[in-house]
Amino acid sequence: MRYDRAGVAGVIEADRPGSKPHRIVVLSGPSGSGKSTIVNRLIELAPVKLVKAVSATTRRPRAGEKDGEDYYFLSPAEFERKRETGEFLEYAEVFGSGSWYGTLKGELQRAQRSGAWALLEIDVQGARHVAQAYPETVTIFLTAANDRDYEQRLRRRGTETEEALQRRLTIAREELAAADFYRHRVVNDDLDRAVREIAQILIARENELNAG
Ligand code: ADP
Ligand code: 5GP
Repeated sequence: MRYDRAGVAGVIEADRPGSKPHRIVVLSGPSGSGKSTIVNRLIELAPVKLVKAVSATTRRPRAGEKDGEDYYFLSPAEFERKRETGEFLEYAEVFGSGSWYGTLKGELQRAQRSGAWALLEIDVQGARHVAQAYPETVTIFLTAANDRDYEQRLRRRGTETEEALQRRLTIAREELAAADFYRHRVVNDDLDRAVREIAQILIARENELNAG
């Protein structure tokens, strides 16, 4: 596959003058910070009307992951086709592993049509693109309480080879250094507390939007 390692493909349809502001929340954080766990909790808790924007990826499913729920698992050729037909809001090669990930415009439209927030769990490159396209995006960067936790949690999760785990830890350090543009930082030391903190951020923003 030959294209840039990250890209942005434009904005979504309903971006007409006078259209309602987009309700987009982006959650990023190093591998092992707890993003997927928190996304699942938030969807269950639904502090505001919330839809998970399911990303497309070329990485293989982990045990228990479901196509269309965790990701749309695509072959490199299928991913390339969607990129060429402009179906991605943004896409990136994450972890330098040859795996591609991308946010589908259709997922944002699905949320927008139902008046819900679109919840994007994407990396720092993707978040930067989305925040540029939609400056009102609520950006949240999740961290563990200390650097050792990422490795411990990834080892406990047991989904990565040693090589992939080391690559994720190296990228974690780079992501931590590049995360200064996020509006909010949340420390996931205590899961319940972190979920509550994010819920409160969303409720506060929803109230502002409704008042304005
Ligand atoms: P990410 O999606 O950011 O890579 P996961 O949500 O898969 O991270 O979490 C990595 C591992 O850490 C999982 O096994 C998860 O159960 C665990 N975990 C998540 N949050 C916490 C927490 N606050 N304390 C301890 N373990 C956690
Ligand atoms: P994982 O392989 O652990 O599910 O996810 C790896 C990384 O890819 C995470 O940092 C996650 O946030 C990121 N990611 C998942 N989907 C997307 C996407 O659509 N776009 C971008 N840019 N990153 C994504």
